[in-house]
Amino acid sequence: MKTIKGKLTVVYIALIMIILVVGAVSVLNVYTLGKSIDGLITDNYKSIDAVDKMRRAIDAQDRGILKYLQGEKEEAVELFYQNNDQFNTWYYFEKYNITENGEEDMVKKVNTKYVQFNKMLSELQEKDNVSANDFYKKDITPTLNELKTDLDALSELNEKAMFDKKQLTSSSAEHSIYIIFIVSISAAAVGLFLSVIFTNKFIRPIYLLINAVKSVKEGEVNKQAAIVYDDEIGLLAREFNNMTYRLYEFEKSTKGTLLAEKNRSTSIIKSISDPLMVLDSSFKIKFVNDACESFFGIDEESIFNKHFLQVVKRVDLYDYVFKVVSEGNEDEGEIIDIKRNNKTYFFNVTTRPIKDKDLKIDGVIVLFKNVTELKQLEMLKTDFIGTVSHELKTPLTSIMMGVGLLKNNKVGSLNEKQLRIIETFQEDVEKLNELVSNLLKISKLETDRAVFDIEPCNILDVINKSVEGYTELLQEKRLSVYYELSENLPNVMADHEKVTWVLNNIISNAIRYTEKGYITIGAYSDENKVYIYVKDTGRGIPFKYLEKIFDKFVRVEGVQIMPESTGLGLSIAKEIVEAHGGEIWCESNVNEGSKFTFTLPIESRVNQ
Ligand code: ADP
Repeated sequence: MKTIKGKLTVVYIALIMIILVVGAVSVLNVYTLGKSIDGLITDNYKSIDAVDKMRRAIDAQDRGILKYLQGEKEEAVELFYQNNDQFNTWYYFEKYNITENGEEDMVKKVNTKYVQFNKMLSELQEKDNVSANDFYKKDITPTLNELKTDLDALSELNEKAMFDKKQLTSSSAEHSIYIIFIVSISAAAVGLFLSVIFTNKFIRPIYLLINAVKSVKEGEVNKQAAIVYDDEIGLLAREFNNMTYRLYEFEKSTKGTLLAEKNRSTSIIKSISDPLMVLDSSFKIKFVNDACESFFGIDEESIFNKHFLQVVKRVDLYDYVFKVVSEGNEDEGEIIDIKRNNKTYFFNVTTRPIKDKDLKIDGVIVLFKNVTELKQLEMLKTDFIGTVSHELKTPLTSIMMGVGLLKNNKVGSLNEKQLRIIETFQEDVEKLNELVSNLLKISKLETDRAVFDIEPCNILDVINKSVEGYTELLQEKRLSVYYELSENLPNVMADHEKVTWVLNNIISNAIRYTEKGYITIGAYSDENKVYIYVKDTGRGIPFKYLEKIFDKFVRVEGVQIMPESTGLGLSIAKEIVEAHGGEIWCESNVNEGSKFTFTLPIESRVNQ
């Protein structure tokens, strides 16, 4: 029997067999007991009863003889014969109910005596009164007494047998109780033994399996359960072992892959030529690459778990990283300069949060992209433009003066042809002068933002002053001006002169690129800034130029407007607006018009 079901069936069958044996023994004993009680009540008791009735019949016949002797002959004979029948009935009953040894002989003896008694009765009837009395006394009475004695003996035999049987029945009942008791105790003991043996046998593999499961739960994934029997539990243990083996293999391979992946990531990060730091969610340093170690002169072990600020002592940078990571600010990159070994390095610092599986921020990657060379090139370019523009400015001024003198006939009169050539000269020189002035302005803005004279200023004053300068030009082009100005505009924090320059540039562009219609100038504010816009109904700007027009020297192609523009105005405007912490942008539809908007911070915001 290999299966638990089979084993259980065997145990149950064994138990049923034991119960059957106990039952059979009990039934047999009860049956034997019943039988002996039956014998006790029926056979002997019937014999005693029959003897008793025979005796009564004899007594009645005896009384009949006495009646006969007293002269009541007829009545006596009737009584006599009636009881003769009675006697015979019970005699035959007893004759066929012989159960004891010697009983048969006794019955025969009774019969002989009774036959003798009957004969005497016949003899009695033939005698006269005197001899009859005599005959009764001398012959009948002794015979009768002997008959009674025989009947008593017969009765006693049966009584004794009955008593013996009663004794036997009692001892048989005791015996039965004893046997049933012994058999029941033995059956219970065998049942208990079988149950204990088989329960332990069945339960042991289950316990072993449970222990194996516990070990796996505690991390011993390659634990194998013992296979004790080839039954269902054995099958379960085998499947469990397969499972733990696969689990172990899986863990081994996953760990291996993860380790390989980690090593790969670490070597990639280590090999990045720009400094890189990995921080945890509380900005403690968890990892730095080689470039970081050599630039900051640190080693990974000594700074491990130190706060970012303890190593990179830049509160502005920490603020930037904190805002990107914790407040979700856009990571535009923060340009910072760090002095090391008497040299200034420029870095574009970008930061990226590391999120865990629940998308909660678990750490931060901070990359210091070295842009020192780019910055140096840019500075070189600005210096160069500044120097060249400055150098050009003096000869240009003298050329312009010379051209002006020639044109105004201050050095002799010119003919028509010479005048036209000089006028073309003048236009080109003015344009060149404008370009050089703009370039100088740009290089100045880029190199030194501190030249800004920022103070609270009323934007309506700026607008009015700016529009005033264009009154003539607007009339010339028949363009009207509308205002959309919110009431109670707060003051802005700005360099009055430079903001006027920005507005002038935008308004002059609007007039320049609008043939008919009108120009709208508006201003409104929110809690942080004031928005100033200039809207026109001119030619508009194609979508692809909307961003680019704020770059240097960019002009929309195919637009030829005299005097030809330099493409520097909007880039200067952008420089100025951004230096104020504002933004500038353009919305436009070709042939419908353009809207230029820029923002400036309001006074209260700056003071906070
Ligand atoms: P410029 O000083 O040459 O005007 P800007 O930088 O001011 O240069 O402008 C760049 C280009 O943007 C212009 O050449 C012109 O093509 C386009 N532009 C600027 N303002 C407008 C406007 N209001 N409507 C249409 N085009 C414009």
